[in-house]
Amino acid sequence: MAIRSVLQIGDPRLRQPSQAVPRSLIGSQKLTELIGDLRDTMAATDGAGLAAPQIGVPLRLVIFGISRNPRYPEAGPIPETILINPELMPLGDELECGWEGCLSVPGLRAEVPRPRRLQYRALTPTGAWIERKVEGFHARVVQHECDHLDGVLFPDRLAPATAAILIAAAGSAAPEPGARPNAASS
Ligand SMILES: [Zn+2]
Repeated sequence: MAIRSVLQIGDPRLRQPSQAVPRSLIGSQKLTELIGDLRDTMAATDGAGLAAPQIGVPLRLVIFGISRNPRYPEAGPIPETILINPELMPLGDELECGWEGCLSVPGLRAEVPRPRRLQYRALTPTGAWIERKVEGFHARVVQHECDHLDGVLFPDRLAPATAAILIAAAGSAAPEPGARPNAASS
């Protein structure tokens, strides 16, 4: 397995919708290696999650998970989870703002509004189905990662004026020395 480079905003591959993982790939050595690369890359970059298109693979596959950690003081642990061809369904109308960052959008963090509760369903690497109802930080991480599968980056979820100001400011900022507490970087 290998640590792969993470595509950065401006790369057109981040904007392309990804394709469903074919059933024939599930359980294959090729998919196992891809998942290993995603896991290694996420660990090496201290991310909370990573989507396959972020390493240049246009397939509907994401990984996420965090252990309880001082970087995420208010976030409970999320078990390592791999979702293949995920489907998301918001539960209720409640929106919540929370801090997000992205390994593909360096130097920028913002409070992003998203549905607070949702249900998701996906295949796992063994070909079984996983279905969960989640809320809060867990729901946020899943939505952030699955946005990548549709070519959506978190600044797209901000009001256009806010996003323009933040991106301009981030472009002139020095690299961050460390992560901001309670912010997902994925
Ligand atoms: Zn991201």
